[in-house]
Amino acid sequence: MPSDSDRQFIPLCEPHLAGNEWQYVKECIDTGWVSSVGSYVDRFEKDIARRTGAKHAVAIVNGTSALHIALLICGVRAGDGVLISSMTFIAPANAVRYAGAEPIFVDSESKHWEMDSALIAAFLEKECEVREKETFHCETNRRISAILPVHILGHSVDMDAILELGRRYHLKVIEDATESLGADYKGRPTGTLGDVGCYSFNGNKVITTGGGGMLVTNDANLAARAKHYTTQAKSDPKEYIHDVVGYNYRLTNLQAALGCAQLEQLDSFIEKKRAIAAKYRKALSGLPGISWQQEAEWAHSIDWLFTITVDEKVFGMSARELRELLSARKIQTRCLWQPMHLSPAHSHSTMLGGAVADRLFETALSLPSSVSLSSDQQQAVIEAIKHAAK
Ligand SMILES: *Cc1c(COP(=O)(O)O)cnc(C)c1O
Repeated sequence: MPSDSDRQFIPLCEPHLAGNEWQYVKECIDTGWVSSVGSYVDRFEKDIARRTGAKHAVAIVNGTSALHIALLICGVRAGDGVLISSMTFIAPANAVRYAGAEPIFVDSESKHWEMDSALIAAFLEKECEVREKETFHCETNRRISAILPVHILGHSVDMDAILELGRRYHLKVIEDATESLGADYKGRPTGTLGDVGCYSFNGNKVITTGGGGMLVTNDANLAARAKHYTTQAKSDPKEYIHDVVGYNYRLTNLQAALGCAQLEQLDSFIEKKRAIAAKYRKALSGLPGISWQQEAEWAHSIDWLFTITVDEKVFGMSARELRELLSARKIQTRCLWQPMHLSPAHSHSTMLGGAVADRLFETALSLPSSVSLSSDQQQAVIEAIKHAAK
């Protein structure tokens, strides 16, 4: 066994830039098209639309901004309530607040760790009423205007029940598909099932543009409004006249060039990530106290980050102790996000359920899942976990 100082650092999830990235970015620089318009922006939008099967795609500066715009174009107004997953990275909850709306957090189901639609159904049925095609929370008289499921860790939410609730209660469905580009729900790509879907191309996502995002929709009107809002709402082709307060949320041609090159490799990235997850599952199965996010029969996960849970009593140490032990061996792992209903930034908000998210926060640990993870590196991670168990 190598001593700890000889070991190479094994990152959690790093970008893999092995295709035409350099060529496309160089072309931007050679031609001077480096800023917020250019052929790569148009091409990246078309490529994402083609890959996801969405009719329209609008490039946006990052995933958080895409979510903000999605809420605005879906008509979410200040004071509205938005039903949103609690077990998520904080960005979509912040976006709800940027729109002046209030998140109503929803717990996960325990098998796949995704938004639990049964809790939403009970809330809408027992605590809300429909008046003239709008839904109101009886106690607060707050209008409920949207559901925002987050497909976490590359695996989809069980969408049919959520889409049905959206129809019945006149709620828009905005998918946070930032961690699940390329994943399927019953054979259909995540991000294209609701009214609007959002992707992120941050450095740790399945493909990256350095930083970037995309909004997809099948509704031409919503797409046009998204483009308008993200480009300062300029309403005259020649004059600088702006009909509403817009945003400078554009993606640059340089970033889009990276995105086009990355998207060409998406299928091979997903294949690699699924193979990494399969190897972890095989190697860790039967290890007492260790389990993991289960893939549903209706899902095709991209296994963005392979994530285990550690049962402290059975395994002999907590997830955080295991994280520190692996860290000492230069293996980077990470616990899941503090659930939003516990976050100091959002803790005043309503929460439906919470026990599953609380337990995941305590016990979940994401393991190295980079596309570039070598077989030896993965073996080292597996050995270190097995060693810790003893
Ligand atoms: C990464 C991420 C985002 C935000 O994307 P950025 O491009 O970093 O703004 C939003 N939601 C979730 C669940 C994410 O993981």
